[in-house]
Amino acid sequence: MKPRVYIVTRNQGKLTEIQDILGAFGIEAKGIYEIADIGEVAETGKTYLENALLKARAGFAKTGFLSVGEDSGLEVAALGGLPGIHSARFGGPGLSQKERINLLLEHLRGVPKEKRTARFVCVVALASPWGEKVFEGVCEGYIAEEPQGEFGFGYDPVFVFPPFEKTFAQLGPKVKNQVSHRAMALRKLAQFLHEEIYQGLKEG
Ligand code: IMP
Repeated sequence: MKPRVYIVTRNQGKLTEIQDILGAFGIEAKGIYEIADIGEVAETGKTYLENALLKARAGFAKTGFLSVGEDSGLEVAALGGLPGIHSARFGGPGLSQKERINLLLEHLRGVPKEKRTARFVCVVALASPWGEKVFEGVCEGYIAEEPQGEFGFGYDPVFVFPPFEKTFAQLGPKVKNQVSHRAMALRKLAQFLHEEIYQGLKEG
């Protein structure tokens, strides 16, 4: 049987990516809401790290299983790092993702390419019977003039990954899941799980 972790998220876009990325390392990632009703975990932390830990701890406290919380966001240099940890709620709770993207583009209207730099940040937290551990990933790029591409979720249609000069939504999961902030953080998690936890269990 494959080693398994439980992911504390209701965001299907994120869950699919996490399953894809960890799957490549032989780790099965299941949505925790399939097996436990842990309710909505309020993102009351002031940092990605605090929010990721809140989610991981909520999952572990309820199930006792290895639980993974993830918090991520888009930081735009010209906006002083906004929307950052508020990325999911940028512009207010009632907006669609398309409206959030339009708002972001509105804020950047007239800003030239070289000043449209942005980065995605992802922090992944693991809560387990052996303790807690956090991993971070960052992906640098810039914000496009207009949305392009059909894949992915969130701000993918406006985040350009410079090595390909294409948005994540154009590149699709095959490329994105190799190079993204989430891929980097999860690669570190996978390595930790194999080397520090699963190996130890095998050796007894
Ligand atoms: P949270 O981690 O649930 O607070 O949500 C993070 C938000 O950041 C998402 O809802 C997206 O708006 C944005 N975000 C984080 N990672 C990505 C990504 O890989 N692509 C597009 N948007 C992202």
